[in-house]
Amino acid sequence: MAGIQCPYCRSAVALDRIGVHFQKFCSAIQSESMRDASMKKFNQFYLQLQSHARGEITTEELQAEANELFRLK
Ligand SMILES: [Zn+2]
Repeated sequence: MAGIQCPYCRSAVALDRIGVHFQKFCSAIQSESMRDASMKKFNQFYLQLQSHARGEITTEELQAEANELFRLK
């Protein structure tokens, strides 16, 4: 299973664990509002995960999408 670096806490996370990582395990997500925002973004990111699963984008491209999408503003 491929993985990416969490855009928030920088730990390595398997692709099928990213959603639950944001929900429960990310040490960098410390507020309810940040968690809600990350889950909304995760719904968008899910489309990218599906593209990756079909081999349309590489893991490196997926990482770049994650960094862009979840970038802290
Ligand atoms: Zn994290």
